[in-house]
Amino acid sequence: MKQKPDLTGKTALVTGASRGIGRAIALALAREGANVAVNCSSSVVDAEKVVREIEKLGRKSIVIKADVAAKPDVERMVKEVTGELGRIDILVNNAGMSTVCPSEKIEESMWRRGIDVMLNGVFFCSQAAGKEMIKQKSGKIINIASINGIVAFPERACYCSAKAGVMALTKVLASEWAKHNINVNAVAPGYVETELVNTLASQGKLSIEELKGRTPGGNLTSAEDVAETVVFLASDAAKSINGQTIVIDGGWTSYGYIESWLKG
Ligand code: NAD
Repeated sequence: MKQKPDLTGKTALVTGASRGIGRAIALALAREGANVAVNCSSSVVDAEKVVREIEKLGRKSIVIKADVAAKPDVERMVKEVTGELGRIDILVNNAGMSTVCPSEKIEESMWRRGIDVMLNGVFFCSQAAGKEMIKQKSGKIINIASINGIVAFPERACYCSAKAGVMALTKVLASEWAKHNINVNAVAPGYVETELVNTLASQGKLSIEELKGRTPGGNLTSAEDVAETVVFLASDAAKSINGQTIVIDGGWTSYGYIESWLKG
């Protein structure tokens, strides 16, 4: 019999959840019954709005301001989650940023910050939450990677490297912590129309129409599509899935690309 994912009584922490994909994930987890801690690095007002939306669904929610790249912040954040919401069953490592620049011009500071937020941050959050999950003898960690970690995108050396690193880290942690009943998986979305992507489009660094033209179905992935897969991975229905990266890209990475062939 087909069962809906049920996250009643679970507690989740979603990083970078004040907007975009993180916000959609936080709301989707809450809809399925989870209490959700909403992490943000700066936009507390937006994060509070997400908290209010989650509370309207009848769940508990808190805002935690923390920079995922700063280990002391991360350790405090996990303490706040377990202190205020009781435990931590689900960690979604979503916080991210764009780092578009020709490789020969990338400044050291941009490279280091990108890797700090999108790879080191994923490790620090997983380590801090993992310690709690090991004590609890259960947990689900879901990392938001990207198709940029699978195929090359010019001028995204830092971003692509960080996301490929996240996929490797996913496999290592899954292998290491399976004995503690912890599942570690990743999702790799194709382009999703969020503020991050719209800002790049407004700066002329990509074209939404070209992205749609490159996708076999002709549409970009939605934040809700990503969120639904995260909910599934966070549920018992996915208990045998471990160390995997699930690609959610409307067929982008499967397709070799000649534009006219798509148009038929
Ligand atoms: P977004 O910019 O709308 O949201 C990212 C969030 O992360 C923001 O709220 C931001 O404040 C937060 N953040 C940034 N640095 C942080 C830090 N140091 N600590 C805590 N929070 C921090 O972007 P989005 O499009 O919603 O992307 C979310 C995730 O999905 C990112 O990891 C991104 O790489 C990934 N992703 C996005 C797309 C896409 O096309 N939008 C595609 C594939 C993967």
